[in-house]
This record gives sequence, structure tokens and C-alpha cells, in this order.
Amino acid sequence: MHYISTRNAQHRVLLGEAIAQGIAPDGGLFVPESFPHFVPHQFDGETDLAEIGARLIAPFAAGDPLAEELPEICRAAFDFPAPLVPLPEAPAPACVLELFHGPTSAFKDFGARFLAECLARIRRGATKKLTVLVATSGDTGGAVAAAFHNRPWVDVAVLYPKGLVSQRQAQQLACWGGNVRTFAVHGTFDDCQRMVKEAFRDPALNEAFQLSSANSINVGRLLPQMVYYAKAGLEMWRRNGRRANFIIPAGNLGNALACIWARHVGLPIGEIALATNANQTITDFLRSGEWQPRASTPTLASAMDVGNPSNMERLRALHPEFDELQAQIGASSVDDIEIRATIRRDSHELGQVWCPHTATAAKVFRRLLARGARGEWVIVSTAHPAKFNDVVEPLIGRTVEIPASLAKLLALPRHEQELEPSLAALRSQLLA
Ligand SMILES: *Cc1c(COP(=O)(O)O)cnc(C)c1O
Repeated sequence: MHYISTRNAQHRVLLGEAIAQGIAPDGGLFVPESFPHFVPHQFDGETDLAEIGARLIAPFAAGDPLAEELPEICRAAFDFPAPLVPLPEAPAPACVLELFHGPTSAFKDFGARFLAECLARIRRGATKKLTVLVATSGDTGGAVAAAFHNRPWVDVAVLYPKGLVSQRQAQQLACWGGNVRTFAVHGTFDDCQRMVKEAFRDPALNEAFQLSSANSINVGRLLPQMVYYAKAGLEMWRRNGRRANFIIPAGNLGNALACIWARHVGLPIGEIALATNANQTITDFLRSGEWQPRASTPTLASAMDVGNPSNMERLRALHPEFDELQAQIGASSVDDIEIRATIRRDSHELGQVWCPHTATAAKVFRRLLARGARGEWVIVSTAHPAKFNDVVEPLIGRTVEIPASLAKLLALPRHEQELEPSLAALRSQLLA
């Protein structure tokens, strides 16, 4: 299978090259030139993420050396579960798809671990070490650091906005050491992202390092995210022969796009509803047809504070006609007042504690029911609430139990350096 840029179909590459390049040379995003097609019976007898993943991703790797190694890549990447947990007290049939059982307690672990396994194989025999630069608003940096930590072929530099992530997220970004350097930048996420972009264009840094990014537009992070939707969709289908509907918290739209792709290739998935926070670029677009990116607004669901969701470019490439695109997904925005109220209410009424991101999906679930929605619903939970205890605990009036993987990271010493928000500051640190 070849990947082409969303902006120019002439540039065609295989999977390994699309992963290594990250972004297409014309600034577009890599998308499959054509999609494979599956029927659910092809997955008969397969129940775990690694098996389903190897079968599902195989056609996406066709023709590339990675294809042969997919079973091994999937076993290494998907070594923690993504359970579908019933929500018995819910006002209508519903389950929670828990994507927070990885090393850093958010769904970003799936993409980061798969990407690291692929790059380890792509870089085999390379003479120069890879230097991965990541700007993070909270969860990506920790997942990437965890996935690449202690791998001898790579160094990682993580940039995050000091004071603008939760205490526990900051700890997860800074607890690594070794081949991971963490920079607490005196600026915003946009400053971090700008510094990384400038670093990629900087002659001195390109001379000294083989630079790479691990950001969420890499197809090596999207493909593995299809796998948990495949598994959840198949599980519900096998149980009752029905297609479950999914409600997905959305920021840059990578997680939701993976679900849309999984349905597009034939997996049993019904409706897909996006939940956004007060950043309304997607909801406004689906209403009006006008694409108007804007600056992001800070909210309690900070990992979704995106004003220009880049994966929309991939969705528009899949459905160039607006009417057709509009028919594929619904979207609804949830503000901070509603996030707080949902965390409080569902803790009492459902006995369920949400992180602020997942709370947007839980709120949209209630809205859909109020509008008469039927069927089986899956609320996609993108992070463990213990990661956002500073927001959640005052609302529910008790402490949230810390998962063992998170407790382990919280006990580690911190290694980080503060950095002024300029390319010059980053350059001198990296070259020092
Ligand atoms: C990254 C993230 C999101 C948003 O996912 P996108 O793929 O950017 O839409 C939602 N919730 C959490 C906890 C995240 O870390």
C-alpha cells in the first residue's frame, strides 16, 4: 500500500517511509492511497489487541519491510488491555472503553508504543542516532518519553509549557532521565510547538542531529488507534449482532479519525459522535461547512485545547463533499461548567469517576439520550482521572485511587531544565 499527501497524490511512499518522514514534503498529511476492506468474520476467533492489530494493519503495511514484523510489533506495542466496561447504572445501555491502562495512563500510549516499535526497526543499521523532538500540552510527551526511554538508537527532547499541565502530568514528563531530556518552557504550548518547528528548519541543529518528530499527525500513531475500536466493535457485534455507537473526546481529531477509518474499512461500528470542549472549530464546521481555525482557548480538558485540528485535513480527503462528510459524524461542545457538573453528577449517579476529557463524552451521551438516541453506546475514556486529581477530587469530595503504573512514575526523581521560549535557548541546550 502506498501513502499519498492530502495535498498532492504524486508523492507516493510505503508505510516505513511515511512513518520516518512524519509529514509529507508539501506540508500535507500522509493518507492511504486506497483503503482495504474487511468483513467481521475475517477476525473470527481473534480476541486480543495484538492479534486483531496484526490482521487489521497488515494491508496498510503491504509492500513495506515492516509488514513481516507486524505480529511482533503488535505484541510488543499492545501489551496492556483496552477493556470495555459496562456502565450498569447508566440511563441507557452503555459501556466505557478504557484506554488508560498503559504506562502513562492515557490513550497516547497506544500510538507512542507502536511508533517506537516501528522506528526501532526502520532505524536498524542506521549510523546516526535519531533525535525526537516533541512539543506537548500534557499527555503526548509522557507517552513518547515512556515509549522511547532507554532505547539506544534514539534521544528524546520533550518541551512542555511550565505551569500549564497538571502536577502529575508534569511528573510524568520529567521522571525519565537517561536518553530523555525534559524542558519546562517559560511559555505556552504554542511556543513549544513553534520552537520545535523552528528547530526542524535550523541548519546547525540539522547538521548535528538526525531530527524526527513523534507528533500525532504521524500515521504510525493513527494506525494503532484503529485497533482498539476494531476490538471493541467486534466484541459488541459478537455479543448481540449490533453495531455499537462511539462517543469520542476530540482535540486534534487523531483518536476519532482512527475510529472513522476503522468503520470505513468495514469494522462493525455504528454512529460516531465527537465531544469537544469549548474549542468549537469542529462543531462550527459541521454546522456551517465553513472551516475556520482559530487560536485555542484554555479549558479543564487541556489535552483537547486545539483551535486548528490538523487531522480534519485527512477527514476532508476521505470525504471531499461536505454533505457526505457531515453525514459521517456528529459533534457537540461541552464547556468547563458542564465538565465540572458531569464529573460531580456521574460520580454520584453512576458511581463513575471521569477525567475532564472523558467527561465531555459522558455529557454528550446524556445529550444524545435527551434527543431520543437509541442503541448501544460506548463512551471512550481517554485518560485515568487520577492524572487530573487536582480538578477531579474537589468535585467528587474524595481521593481517586492511583493506578500502579502511575504510582511508580510519581515516585521517581525529576530531571528537567527550565528554558526560555526561543529557538536560540533550545539550540544551545541541545548542542551543549
Ligand atoms: C490527546 C488527548 C485527547 C484528544 O485526542 P485527539 O487525538 O487530539 O483528538 C483527549 N483526551 C486526552 C486525555 C488526551 O490526552
